[in-house]
Amino acid sequence: MNYKSTRDNSISVTSAKAIAQGLSEEGGLFVPENIPALTKDDILSLCDKTYPERAFEIFRRFLTDFTDDEIRYCVNGAYSDKNFDSADISEISHLYSGTYILELWHGPTCAFKDMALQILPYLLSVSAKKVIDGKDIAILVATSGDTGKAALEGFKDVAGTSITVFYPEDGVSDMQKRQMTTQEGGNVNVCAVKGNFDDCQNGVKAIFTNEVLKKELDSMNITFSSANSINWGRLSPQIVYYISVYASLVKSGDIEYGDKINIVVPTGNFGNILAAYYAKEMGLPVNKLICASNANNVLTDFINTGVYDRNRHFYTTISPSMDILISSNLERLLYHLTDGNDKQIAEWFGKLAKDGRYEVTDDVKAKIKDLFYAGCCDDNATKDAIRQAFDEYSYLMDTHTGVAYKVYNDYKAATGDETKTVIASTANPYKFGKAVYEAVGGNTDGLDEFTIIEKLEEHTGTKMPAPLAATKTKTVRFTGSVEKSGMSDVVLDFLRSR
Ligand SMILES: *Cc1c(COP(=O)(O)O)cnc(C)c1O
Repeated sequence: MNYKSTRDNSISVTSAKAIAQGLSEEGGLFVPENIPALTKDDILSLCDKTYPERAFEIFRRFLTDFTDDEIRYCVNGAYSDKNFDSADISEISHLYSGTYILELWHGPTCAFKDMALQILPYLLSVSAKKVIDGKDIAILVATSGDTGKAALEGFKDVAGTSITVFYPEDGVSDMQKRQMTTQEGGNVNVCAVKGNFDDCQNGVKAIFTNEVLKKELDSMNITFSSANSINWGRLSPQIVYYISVYASLVKSGDIEYGDKINIVVPTGNFGNILAAYYAKEMGLPVNKLICASNANNVLTDFINTGVYDRNRHFYTTISPSMDILISSNLERLLYHLTDGNDKQIAEWFGKLAKDGRYEVTDDVKAKIKDLFYAGCCDDNATKDAIRQAFDEYSYLMDTHTGVAYKVYNDYKAATGDETKTVIASTANPYKFGKAVYEAVGGNTDGLDEFTIIEKLEEHTGTKMPAPLAATKTKTVRFTGSVEKSGMSDVVLDFLRSR
C-alpha cells in the first residue's frame, strides 16, 4: 500500500518514504491510498493479545513495505514496561457506569505524545535504512511543551540520530521547562528562544529550507527530519490505542463485540481525533467522534458551520497543548471526505495560507456533521469540570482531559445519548499541577511548583508520577537561550561537535 499527497494525487510513495520525508514537497500531507479493513474476527483476535502484539497487527496493515521482523523490532522496543509504568501501556479508568477514561499518559513524559514518540525513532530508523541508507538523521523540533520532551525521551541515545529542541523562553510551564532542561542522553540538545512558539516554529522551518546549511549537512552525511504531528509515523501509532481499548472493553465484558462507543478527544492539531476517525473507518464500531476544544474554538466553529476561520483572538489557557489556531491534520480528514479531491484540498489550504479562511462544500459539511460532534469551554468551566469529577467520582484529571469531560457532559445534556463512551485522557494531572490544584479548591498564591504539587498530593491523596518527581533533583544541563536569528548556529555547532 502506498501513500499519496493530499495536494497532488500523482505523488505516491511507500510508507518508509512517507515517514522519512515527513511532508510532501508541495506541502501536502501523506495519507494511505486506502484504509485497511478490520473484520469482527480481526478485532476479536486482539482481545487476548498484549499491547505490542495489537500494535503489530495494526502496523502490518499500514506499513506494508516493512517486514514482520522490522515491525516487531519497532513495537517491542517502544512498548515495554521499561518505558511505561503500566504493563498495558495505557490504562482504562471507570469514571462511572459506561463512561471510561483512557489514560494515555503512562509513558516517560506523562503525556499522550509518548504513545507515538516512543515508537517514532524506531519507525524512522527502519525507514531511513530503506530510503536514505547510511545517513544520520538530525531531528529538529519546535515545541510549546509536551512534544519537545516526548521527542527527547524517544530519540535519546538512538543510534544514527540526534535531536535539537527549541522552546519559547517564557512560553512553557515550569514543569515542562524543568523536564526539558534536565534531559539526559548523549545525542540531545535543548535551547530556549527569545520569542514565542511561532518564532520557534518559523525558525525551524527556515533551517529546513536553508540551502547553505543543507550543503554543510550533506558534507557531514546528515539529513534533517521532523518529529511533529504531520508525520505519518506519529499519526499511525495513535490508531492502535483506539482499537486496543475496544478489544480490552470486549475482553472485560464491559461491551459486547458490535456495541458502538463514543470517543471524546481533547483536540489541538487534530492528530489524536483523526486517529480515532481512521479506527472507525477501518471498521471499529464507533458512534460519534466528539471533538473538544478550549477557548481557542476554531474547530468547534468549523465542525458546526463548515467555515474554517483562523482570524480570531488567540487565548493562552490552562490547557496550553490545545492553544492552536491551525489544526494541520484536518487536511487529511478533508482529503478522505472529498474522496481524494487533491485540487479541492490544494485550493482550500491555499486560501487558509492566504486569507486564513476557507469554507467546505455542503456535501462535506453533511459528512462532518454525521461523524462528529464539537464543543468547547473556557478555563473556568474546565476547572469546574475537574472539581466535579473529583468530588463525585474521586477521579483527578488534568486540564486537557477536563475540557473533554466538560464537552462530553454538554453533549449528553444536548442529545440524551447514553452510548458507552471512552474519553481520551492526554496528560497526567501533575503536569499542570497549579491549575489542577486551583480547580479542586487550593490556593496557590506565592507558592512554587513543587510546594503546589505537595499540597495537591495531600489534598487529593494521589501521587506525582516518578518521572516528574525526578526532575526536582536532576541537574539542569541546558541553560542556553538565543535570538531567533541564532537558531541555525545552535544546530550547526551541535552537529559539528558530535
Ligand atoms: C498535544 C496535546 C493535545 C492535542 O492533541 P492533538 O493531536 O494535537 O489534537 C491534547 N492534550 C495534550 C496534553 C497534548 O499534549
